[in-house]
Amino acid sequence: MRILKFGGTSMGDAQTWKRVIEIIKTYDAPFVVVSATARTTRSLIKAAHKAIDHPQKAQIIADDIATRHNNIVEHFLADYDDSTQTLNACHNWIDIHTEELKEHLATIHNQQELTEQLKDVVASIGERLSSYLFAECGYAAGLYTTWLDATQIVRTDSNFGKASPSSEFISDKINSLQQKISTDNIPVMGGYYGMDDNENITTLGFEGSDYSASLVGAALDAEAIEIWTDVSGIYTCDPRFVPDAKPIPQLSFQEATELAYFGAKVLHPSTTKPASKKQIPVWVKNIFEPHEPGTCISTESTNGGPVKAITYKENCTIVTVTSSQTVMGYEFLAGVFDILRWHHLPVDVVTTTEASVSIGIENGANLDDAIEQLRGYGSVDVLNNQGIISLVGCSNGTFLLTDILSEIKSVPQNLISYSESKGNLNLVVDNNQVLTVVKTIHSKLFS
Ligand code: ADP
Ligand code: MG
Repeated sequence: MRILKFGGTSMGDAQTWKRVIEIIKTYDAPFVVVSATARTTRSLIKAAHKAIDHPQKAQIIADDIATRHNNIVEHFLADYDDSTQTLNACHNWIDIHTEELKEHLATIHNQQELTEQLKDVVASIGERLSSYLFAECGYAAGLYTTWLDATQIVRTDSNFGKASPSSEFISDKINSLQQKISTDNIPVMGGYYGMDDNENITTLGFEGSDYSASLVGAALDAEAIEIWTDVSGIYTCDPRFVPDAKPIPQLSFQEATELAYFGAKVLHPSTTKPASKKQIPVWVKNIFEPHEPGTCISTESTNGGPVKAITYKENCTIVTVTSSQTVMGYEFLAGVFDILRWHHLPVDVVTTTEASVSIGIENGANLDDAIEQLRGYGSVDVLNNQGIISLVGCSNGTFLLTDILSEIKSVPQNLISYSESKGNLNLVVDNNQVLTVVKTIHSKLFS
């Protein structure tokens, strides 16, 4: 069995839904995981925030989401005779979920607060809509698609916004369900969301549908997990910004994880975890060019050029703590990292000297309290608006570094770190230099 995951762009409109149906038809008994339709999750979260002070604007967003979904199913089903019943079922589903959404928006307004718990319920509506509607439409198009509610399958902890799933629960549940579903049926499940032990809806983090697909794949011991998107695999750099980037045929699980973690948006960073545990290959493929090979992520890695790919993250912060004379060595480092752990701050890059440590932290993290506490260990310098550029899969990093630095002489490097064992080289430069540096390095290494 193969798990086929279709992202927001694949779920964009009735035309792409038809493409997706054609792709599914070429598989024997697949398991389908879908994201919300394009831009829906962002709109839902925007509505939830707006609801606090601008309830009417929030309601308009809710109506707009309903209209978009009604349009998709109407356009899709217009090509099929005898689809009135399906269309009614779809309209009904959209109505129920729009009502639910509006109730949540009203609650947010009345409470004058958007809790993480409520944000997850609202955010999950995108996948709750798309998965059911797509299953209905697939059935009308001649596929035996059956909707599966992810709350019944993906059990998580209660860490709203970034919940951790229980692989054992998913495995037990999905295998018992699989036995009930006849072999002709094609399960369609919404990615990204699940439920905790108290029956609260949770989400796995932004773009978490890739992760859901991988969890299901591992639970079912799938032959492969296929992530279908709008590009033909993982490229040497984001093809949207570096047009001469090329797809990479083969990556190891570790290389793909590093790439995803350091900003390659094409894959959620946790996707490789369940798959690599069971050694299930993950493919990244293009719905617009289904015959192109795409990228295969597996235990194997091929030797190619000096670097596999370049990726980057903008708007990061570099915090440098210089030890006061009273705290030295391991005690100093342990103390600093304890504070980061306490504040759940995700660390991207680290360099240390005897008396100081510099840490690159990604955007969105609330640093103020942590910085205050860090002052207890010495003086603290903060450098905002930084971009972390990562070269993943380096085969000869030290040699490479000399080569690259000569190419970008005029750009000040605010931090450099290299891990020989991981084949990872990180450069930190000012935000406004990131794209120029990325393009220069890419053309040097890949042209
Ligand atoms: P989906 O909606 O299918 O989940 P995403 O938008 O999450 O799609 O991911 C696909 C996008 O990821 C591409 O359109 C591309 O711009 C971006 N991307 C960023 N880095 C890379 C990379 N290294 N290789 C391929 N795509 C990348
Ligand atoms: Mg995605």
